[in-house]
Amino acid sequence: MQRRTFLTTGGMAALGFGLSGCATTTRPNLTPRRPPVSLPPVHASWDRVIRTTVGLRPHRDAGFVVKADKLNDKLLVHNYGHGGAGMSLAWGTGLMAAELATEHQAAAGRRDRVRVGRPHLRATAPAPRVRRHDLRAGHSAERDLEHVAGWIHPASGLVENDRRTPEWDAQYRRAADISYRQLQLLAGPHFGVSWLDNYALTDDLPSPPQSIPGRPNLNDGLTPGREILQPGEHPFPTKYAIRSPQIRIEPSIYLENLVRDFMLFGGHLVIRKFDSPRELATLGEPIIINCTGLGARDLFGDQELVPLKGQLVVMVPQPEVNYHTNGGFRRDQPPPGGLGIHMMARSDGIILGGTSQRGVWTLEPDETERRRVVDSHIAVFGAMKSQLA
Ligand SMILES: Cc1cc2nc3c(=O)[nH]c(=O)nc-3n(C[C@H](O)[C@H](O)[C@H](O)COP(=O)(O)OP(=O)(O)OC[C@H]3O[C@@H](n4cnc5c(N)ncnc54)[C@H](O)[C@@H]3O)c2cc1C
Repeated sequence: MQRRTFLTTGGMAALGFGLSGCATTTRPNLTPRRPPVSLPPVHASWDRVIRTTVGLRPHRDAGFVVKADKLNDKLLVHNYGHGGAGMSLAWGTGLMAAELATEHQAAAGRRDRVRVGRPHLRATAPAPRVRRHDLRAGHSAERDLEHVAGWIHPASGLVENDRRTPEWDAQYRRAADISYRQLQLLAGPHFGVSWLDNYALTDDLPSPPQSIPGRPNLNDGLTPGREILQPGEHPFPTKYAIRSPQIRIEPSIYLENLVRDFMLFGGHLVIRKFDSPRELATLGEPIIINCTGLGARDLFGDQELVPLKGQLVVMVPQPEVNYHTNGGFRRDQPPPGGLGIHMMARSDGIILGGTSQRGVWTLEPDETERRRVVDSHIAVFGAMKSQLA
């Protein structure tokens, strides 16, 4: 499997901050045999499917855009193109966008600005504690609430190695550090943020990360406590299971409370579509923050933006399942349609994912993909059960 393919198809959705195989430089310690980990199996079956969610990741091969620009006499701050990692990086890129606005405001002695786009990215820019002060200045914005992913994983579908620049790497790294810390501090039932173990199921020991000579490894230090479970030390059908603690976000809880906070601190949400920068320029505020995701393609002509269509199949919740998985097939029994699958346990369902279709703009569920993802998990967790018997 091409590394590029993995980045654009899998989308492991846990806050491992790992570019999968390129996260840490040191080979994890292969400790001797331990008692097998006992985990409740996922009851994967078609009659437990309750819904299917489809969404479009706003992808740019060159990565997200956070920069200041001019729109007539206004400051226009861009904050878009987060691909499969918007939930993960929102606090970081949000803060960086707000800093660009605040610097300009300080110079202009004005405090009012408007953000265009989705509430969660706006509500996270800057971090609530700071934002509460900010919001008292009175800000307005546009709104559209649709929940997509449960977890966060910053690198999934985020950037192509050959398009990275040292400037972008520095922005990425700062955004990841800010977000990682902020989400750690939000852990708890109020925002629906918690830590769970993820098991990367594989027959191959992870190879050292492919980094660009002279450039930092993007996710160094962002994958704590990673360990390799040997055959006999885990209940999964593959040779190895790489366990790592990861942060999970429950979107239904998280997004609701972010927007509630936003409103509580004086934010206003106005639902309105802008068809041109000229129309945006008619707004009263001197500063506009563009958080329109894929919408920036038409609104600002960024042809680099392409959708990565994603799809999540949701099964009846299993409160006893307190872990996530990705992958799960033996090398000698590859499933049809590719290995990219992952399971996320959430309080509103067992989420099965693994779809990432480049350039597909439709929002109808893809039945072939649904079959691949559900049947693959039926096979993985079926095999898991036999390991425990
Ligand atoms: C299946 C799936 C799984 C995912 N899993 C994860 C994950 O585990 N972790 C993670 O971090 N991320 C994940 N993501 C990615 C994450 O959802 C996106 O990166 C994030 O939603 C991007 O946020 P955004 O606000 O920039 O863009 P969007 O969410 O696309 O929001 C843009 C907003 O701008 C509005 N807009 C657009 N054009 C205009 C206009 N002209 N005028 C006014 N408003 C406009 C739109 O209506 C929309 O409300 C996943 C995505 C999908 C689809």
